[in-house]
Amino acid sequence: MTAKECFELLVTQIHVTALAAVNEDGLPVSGIADAVYADEAGLYFLTEKDGTLCKCLKSSAYAVCSGVKSEDPVNGTAVTVYGKISEAGTELLPQFFTAQKYLAEKYPAKKAVSVFCMTAGSGEWKALSGKESGSFTFGAAEPEPAAEPQAGGYLVTDACIGCGACADACPQGCITVGDKAEIAQEECLHCGCCADTCPVGAIEQQ
Ligand code: SF4
Ligand code: SF4
Repeated sequence: MTAKECFELLVTQIHVTALAAVNEDGLPVSGIADAVYADEAGLYFLTEKDGTLCKCLKSSAYAVCSGVKSEDPVNGTAVTVYGKISEAGTELLPQFFTAQKYLAEKYPAKKAVSVFCMTAGSGEWKALSGKESGSFTFGAAEPEPAAEPQAGGYLVTDACIGCGACADACPQGCITVGDKAEIAQEECLHCGCCADTCPVGAIEQQ
């Protein structure tokens, strides 16, 4: 599936997604967001205005969204999208409410929502049967790795022996391992699984 096909699945069939980001204190926050629209600018989400997730997204440069379309536990498709996110204007709200009829019932007061747009990044899809999967990119550029982790983030030190245990433990899949492990900071949710797993204590929290 292409990025366009995955966005289409999110917007027209999955609708409600789990969206996660990192707040100003470097802690992970997740919540429910409606994937409502996609165009050349990116993938649009609605969140409850001034809710916990909304406040976090306003200060977070990146987010990850996941959604599942399934009839049962083995027949369906899961889509995950990582990317740059920013608050968008409300100009397209009428278009969203026209395209997604259920929004009028869910958000009777249109002003009670905030709009965010994921503009560039990457994603992956997977059949729940495990038989098919794929990945895609979208937007102007891949998210650029942050040079340094935020407060509360994790850093791989020179004690690393390149065993790969942290990459296997990372729920985000955001660790690559060569001679030394490297964490893609923009995708890290600061869960600490990597540090807990490292056999030589080479991963330190900042
Ligand atoms: S396992 Fe480590 S790198 Fe992966 S999300 Fe958790 S803290 Fe970040
Ligand atoms: S688990 Fe520790 S030693 Fe192994 S690759 Fe990760 S950081 Fe390096």
